[in-house]
Amino acid sequence: MADRYLSFTGTGPGRFLTRRLGLPQPTALKRWSPERPTLPGDRLLLTAGKSDLDLAATGLDLTPSAERPTAVVLDATGVRDVETLTEVHAALHPVVRSVADSGRVVVLGAPLDPADHHQAAAQQALEGFTRSLGKEIGRGRTVNLLRLTDPAAARSTLRFLLSPKSAYLSGQVLEVGPAPATDTGPPADPDRPLTGRTALVTGGARGIGEAVAETLARDGARVVVLDVPQAEQDARRVADRLGGTALALDITAADAGARIAEALPDGLDVLVHNAGITRDRRLVNMPAERWSSVLDVNLASVLRTTDALLTAGTLRRGGRVVATASIAGLAGNAGQTNYGASKAGIVGLVRSLAPRALAEHGVTVNAVAPGFIETRMTAAIPLFIREAGRRMNSLAQGGVPVDVAETTAWLADPGSGAVNGQVVRVCGQSLLGA
Ligand code: NAD
Repeated sequence: MADRYLSFTGTGPGRFLTRRLGLPQPTALKRWSPERPTLPGDRLLLTAGKSDLDLAATGLDLTPSAERPTAVVLDATGVRDVETLTEVHAALHPVVRSVADSGRVVVLGAPLDPADHHQAAAQQALEGFTRSLGKEIGRGRTVNLLRLTDPAAARSTLRFLLSPKSAYLSGQVLEVGPAPATDTGPPADPDRPLTGRTALVTGGARGIGEAVAETLARDGARVVVLDVPQAEQDARRVADRLGGTALALDITAADAGARIAEALPDGLDVLVHNAGITRDRRLVNMPAERWSSVLDVNLASVLRTTDALLTAGTLRRGGRVVATASIAGLAGNAGQTNYGASKAGIVGLVRSLAPRALAEHGVTVNAVAPGFIETRMTAAIPLFIREAGRRMNSLAQGGVPVDVAETTAWLADPGSGAVNGQVVRVCGQSLLGA
């Protein structure tokens, strides 16, 4: 479903009229393409407080001065109290206006110190700062906060945040820990980091899952496209195009895990739980069957297959699990008690399993939480609700499946071993649910 309003505001008369009427002003986002693999221009590095961070370890080109930067990285890890917080304002106030359209502001923060409430207050303040700047900056520019301790372990994350691949990710707080022992370091070819790896995408025959399969294949993975037997033809079409294989299987089958393990005797590196359904009804009108079918596809099957593939050792060391939550699971949504419960359950699963899966199996577990994404699912929403859903975010537009796919690819990257237990919203900083 094309976003005609976005096209209209991209024209001279459209911009003039919508400005006069005080209507939202979306800017067409600059997404990744083979012709535009990076955002052209300088990346400005600023500092607030006294920092010990050695950003040379990220291998990124950062410069201390730039007239019209495409990105600003503000190292605020040394902000320890309200006084040094002033330096955040002093650093960004003069340059924020000059950041290019579709540019990036990335604030680097430190973990909160439980033994120093002044440091904790000042570092937490960076969250409110980031989210507020994200809401006001406009022109397709994004603002995110990255808490880190080891810049080398955050390399893949910073590359992603500063690239066109993160076009629809704004107002987020991400945490990157120290590199785990299983980490093999940055991939040999950063443009095809998944070379030699196998990735399985559930619900990969269409929509977001199809985009995920495409993006992981672009990054070098051999993909297995799993979908229900009724969608086998579509799954096969996607798999053939990407040089992968299709697996016709209902993920809710009790033996789904065993059948995946059987189909992948050489093991699996990336497991993307994308299959999902909605069966909306207000709770008063919701029959038990609608409740249980949604819980079964969106949550129970994710728990069952993850357990089975970890236990069987099909998921190899250095592996990645990426599950799919939703902002409806974070903020709640009328008519979606079943869906909201299932997607919130994913968040619980990720938070609990991530540290154990990493310690015991060398596998990271994260989730993406899409906001309003232009797919068949959202095309079915009535016009006015759909239009509100599209605009109610800082970028004033819906995302596209590839936005979720790029985020998944970053989490699946072998260099992202230090990203674990995160729920990453891909929502253009939706106004729903902070
Ligand atoms: P979609 O309906 O277009 O595609 C879902 C795919 O999953 C389909 O190919 C379907 O056949 C498959 N599937 C459903 N049940 C299955 C089962 N039992 N076994 C195997 N495959 C099954 O949906 P989409 O919009 O691409 O959404 C993908 C995921 O993203 C879902 O988990 C959804 O809840 C989530 N999500 C989507 C949005 C959005 O705006 N579109 C927002 C938040 C979250």
